[in-house]
Amino acid sequence: MRVAIIGAGFGGMAAAYDLKKAGHSVTIYESANYVGGLASGFKEPNWDWSVEKFYHHWFQSDHEMLGLIKELGWEDKVLFPRPLTVMYHKGKFYPFDSILKMALFPGLGFGLDKIRFGFVGLYLRLTNNWKALEQVTADAWMMKWAGKNVYEKMWKPLLVGKFGPYYAQVNMAWMWARIKARTTRLGTFEGGFQRFASLFAEHLLEMGIEFRMGVSVESIKREQAQLAVRSEGQSELFDKVLVTTSPNLMAKLSPELPENYLKGLLELKSMGAVVMVLSLKHQLSKQGYYWFNLPKEEGYPFLALVEHTNFVSKDHFGGDHIVYAGDYLQVGHEYFSMTDEELLERFMPALKKFNPEFDGDWVNKVWVYRTNYAQPVPLVNHSKNIPAIQTPIEGLYFASMSQVYPWDRGTNFAVEIGRRAARLMDSKQ
Ligand SMILES: Cc1cc2nc3c(=O)[nH]c(=O)nc-3n(C[C@H](O)[C@H](O)[C@H](O)COP(=O)(O)OP(=O)(O)OC[C@H]3O[C@@H](n4cnc5c(N)ncnc54)[C@H](O)[C@@H]3O)c2cc1C
Repeated sequence: MRVAIIGAGFGGMAAAYDLKKAGHSVTIYESANYVGGLASGFKEPNWDWSVEKFYHHWFQSDHEMLGLIKELGWEDKVLFPRPLTVMYHKGKFYPFDSILKMALFPGLGFGLDKIRFGFVGLYLRLTNNWKALEQVTADAWMMKWAGKNVYEKMWKPLLVGKFGPYYAQVNMAWMWARIKARTTRLGTFEGGFQRFASLFAEHLLEMGIEFRMGVSVESIKREQAQLAVRSEGQSELFDKVLVTTSPNLMAKLSPELPENYLKGLLELKSMGAVVMVLSLKHQLSKQGYYWFNLPKEEGYPFLALVEHTNFVSKDHFGGDHIVYAGDYLQVGHEYFSMTDEELLERFMPALKKFNPEFDGDWVNKVWVYRTNYAQPVPLVNHSKNIPAIQTPIEGLYFASMSQVYPWDRGTNFAVEIGRRAARLMDSKQ
C-alpha cells in the first residue's frame, strides 16, 4: 500500500515508522524545512545542544514516548533531572513539587484549606472515572470540592492562564488528566528534543521512508480508488493519507469531507501560544528554580517563566543562560502582531521580579516563536465531539492534538495517536 503522511512532527513520524515496518511504502510531506513540528528546536553556533522553540519536557509517565525511544535503542540518551517548580504567594516564590513542599506552602494557610487541597489531589490521582468528570466544568467541580479559597488560589490561575476566556468552560477531566499523569522528575533527550527528532528522521530515511521537506500540501481529494495529494501545482496518488495538522487546516485541505465531520473540526476550540526565548549572560533565578507558575492578576505580562538552564546545564549552551517567557493566547492577541523588540520591551520589566539585579545588558539575544494551534480547549462532554481518526472519506485519516483526550496534549500522546492511526490504516487494507 502507498501511504502519504502530512506532517513530520512526532505524530507523523511515529505513524510512518509503524507503517513502514508493516511493509508499506511511506512518503512524508512537511511544509517546514525541519522535522519535529511543535517540539522542534534551534541552535546557536556556540551551543552543543538545541533549545526547544516552545519549552518541552517529558514526564516519567510518558510511557508511549519512552517506549518508542527504547525500541529505537536510545534510552541511554534520555535524562530525568529533578528541577524545581515554584508557586507564587504574596510577591515570593515557594517550591511546590513534592507533598512535603506543598504541605509547607504558606499560600493556603495550615488549616482546613490545606487538608481539602490534599484530599482533592489524592482523589484525582486515585480515580479513573474521567467520564464522570468530563460532564462538569473544572470551575464548578473545584469550587464545590476544593472550596472557593483553594480553587481561587491554586487552580483558577492555571485555568485562566491556559485557557483565557474559556477558563470557566473547560471540563474537569482535563484537570484530572493533568494531575494524574504528571511527575516531579522531568525528562529530556541528550542534545535536546530536536536532536531526537533528527535522529528519528534519519532512522526513518534509512528504513526507506521518503521525506518531501519544505513542501506544503494544498489539498487532498478522492480520485477514483485513490487519494490525490496536491502540492506545488502537482498531484500524487496514494492509497491512504494521514493528516497530522490542526483541525482547521485539515478542514481546508479536504473540503470534500461531509458537512457534519467538517463542522466538528471547525467547532473545536484551541489556544495559540507566544513564547520568547532569551539567551542571558547571567543566571536569572539565583535559587536555581526551573518553572515559575505565575498568576495573571499579579500583573505579569506572561503566564510562565522557565529557566531552561536550571533544568539542563548551561555548559551545553556555551555558558549562555536560557530563559523562556511564554503565554497561551487567543489568535489575534496583540502579542501575535507586536515586533520582537516591542515584546521584549513589554516583558523586560517583569524579569526584575525574578532577580532585582537583572538588567537589559544581560540579554545576549532574543527569539520569539508563535503558533496558532498550541493547546486544545476541551469543553464539557468533549469525548462526544472528538473527530474520528478514520474520516468519512475512504482512506483519509486524521490524528491531531485535539484527539488525544482525555489526556492533555504532549509529544507522548502524539506518538500514541500516530501509532494508533497506523494500526487502523494497516488493518483496513
Ligand atoms: C507552548 C508549548 C509547550 C509544550 N510543552 C510540551 C512539553 O513540555 N512536553 C511535551 O511532550 N509536549 C509539549 N507540547 C506539545 C507538543 O509539542 C505536541 O503535542 C506535539 O509536538 C504534537 O505533535 P504532532 O505531530 O501531533 O503535531 P505537530 O508537531 O504540530 O506536527 C505537525 C506538522 O505538520 C506540518 N504541516 C502543517 N501543515 C502542513 C502542510 N500543509 N503540508 C505539509 N506539512 C504541514 C507542520 O509544519 C508540523 O511539522 C507543547 C506545545 C506547546 C505549543
